[in-house]
Amino acid sequence: MPARVHGVLSLIAFAGAVVIAALAGWSESPALGIAYAALALVSLLVTIAVFCGKCANRDHCGHVVPGQIARLMRRELRRGPYTSAELALTSIALVLVFLLPLGWLWRFPLALGGFCLLLLLGSIDIRARVCAACKNAACPLSGK
Ligand code: SF4
Repeated sequence: MPARVHGVLSLIAFAGAVVIAALAGWSESPALGIAYAALALVSLLVTIAVFCGKCANRDHCGHVVPGQIARLMRRELRRGPYTSAELALTSIALVLVFLLPLGWLWRFPLALGGFCLLLLLGSIDIRARVCAACKNAACPLSGK
């Protein structure tokens, strides 16, 4: 299976995890569900602007969609290695999206299981198939 198929599948797995977390949050309180969904969207856009905007592989993005959005946000590629601030901002955005929901998901064991399973499958897929074909040598996950 081509790496881009794995990239899209992993993106779908992460999106599924976010939907599960948002629905569980909504069942606690609609405001929580909406706030989390908004946070996930903002975090995604921040990650794309900061991280994908410097990715030398964005025109051949393994996840397809982030690379295209990065190009829409800024036509020219920002060059150079990632700065500590850029890495910190990206990490904070991702940690907020994937750790914050644990604060309410623990009350919904089935949803928690689905959330963790989708994150695990998506992460394994990325490390095993997507990273191997990615040419963003500046990425901290790159072994190049
Ligand atoms: S391959 Fe590049 S553009 Fe695609 S998600 Fe990874 S960092 Fe972003």
